[in-house]
Amino acid sequence: MSGTHEITELLGDGIADELRESVHAVAEVLPGIYTFDTMDLAYENRRKEGRELYDRSVASMQRTGVGFKYPTATIEESPNAVLRKLLKFSVIHRPISSIPGIKTNFTGKLDLDIIRIATGGTYDDPGQMIGDYAAASLRIVDRKTCEQAARYAFSVAMRERKSLTSSSKYTIQRITDGLFEDIVQEVANEFQYSGQIEHRRELFDALLAKLVMDPENFQVVLVLNEYGDFLSDLASGMVGSLGLGASVSLAFSEKGQVAAAMFDATHGTAPDIAGQNKANPTAILLAFSMMLKHLGDTQSGEALRKGLFECLDAGETTGDIGGPHNTESFTREVIERVRANLAE
Ligand code: ATP
Repeated sequence: MSGTHEITELLGDGIADELRESVHAVAEVLPGIYTFDTMDLAYENRRKEGRELYDRSVASMQRTGVGFKYPTATIEESPNAVLRKLLKFSVIHRPISSIPGIKTNFTGKLDLDIIRIATGGTYDDPGQMIGDYAAASLRIVDRKTCEQAARYAFSVAMRERKSLTSSSKYTIQRITDGLFEDIVQEVANEFQYSGQIEHRRELFDALLAKLVMDPENFQVVLVLNEYGDFLSDLASGMVGSLGLGASVSLAFSEKGQVAAAMFDATHGTAPDIAGQNKANPTAILLAFSMMLKHLGDTQSGEALRKGLFECLDAGETTGDIGGPHNTESFTREVIERVRANLAE
């Protein structure tokens, strides 16, 4: 399926402009039509327009339901943190898979979709001292957010025909993690996914060991805030790259539907190479591929992801990871493969 989609595009700093050219060049060869409501979140413009710019960006994303963001510099404020707060993002979906051609100490093959509840847990409470000798913090697990995350996770598992593992320490943190696992089970039953999608629960410590030993047994993994934090870094380390990742931040409506989804690359603005046609657009193009799948343009999303991996596998990469290409020539290589994949 491919149709017309409007996307809120959030410009950024450093290499953002080069990345944008690469994304638009790829978008042009796809069968779908993509129009962009563009907001300039580059630092100079943020300074000039202030809060009003964020309000317009938020209104646009609430209208289109989809945001695509380039890296922004954190100088006076972190645009990511501001948008997270204004749009009430509560879940982060981060696919992490083995990348062809990237050297890593881990020899297994990883292909994970980490879906992390990005609020609550112990991270929302700074804690407090109890006298001089102890400190305590509150751990919050919120029913509604768990339900929303679980529904989203099951829908991804369904779309991608993958199994789903929910993971926590439900035997120790019986109340908080127990509530999380109960809700995941409720959602599984409610949507009658149980029969169609393999759902397992796994203690989080056991998950870490099993993931390293038998990575092929894990596909979509749904976790609470802290666990997702640890798991994302472990998985990034396993595939040998923190710099080639992409993710989507999600906000939900009262009814539990995705109200806003903002896609971006996990790397920063790389000011040292900005404007030199050296930026590696792999991560931002992976973010674009995720967005295409979210929009229902699954074939285009897959053709792009496959095309990127084919380039990396063939050593047709940008200079930062040892290849002969600059941003433009790498983008041309990707486009050639995307075209071939779409024609298959
Ligand atoms: P920021 O403050 O925005 O996080 P930074 O330079 O501190 O910027 P990164 O942007 O993640 O952090 O960059 C770290 C290093 O990796 C830099 O040397 C940068 O050039 C390189 N780098 C990051 N992203 C890319 C990319 N897409 N292509 C090529 N090199 C990159």
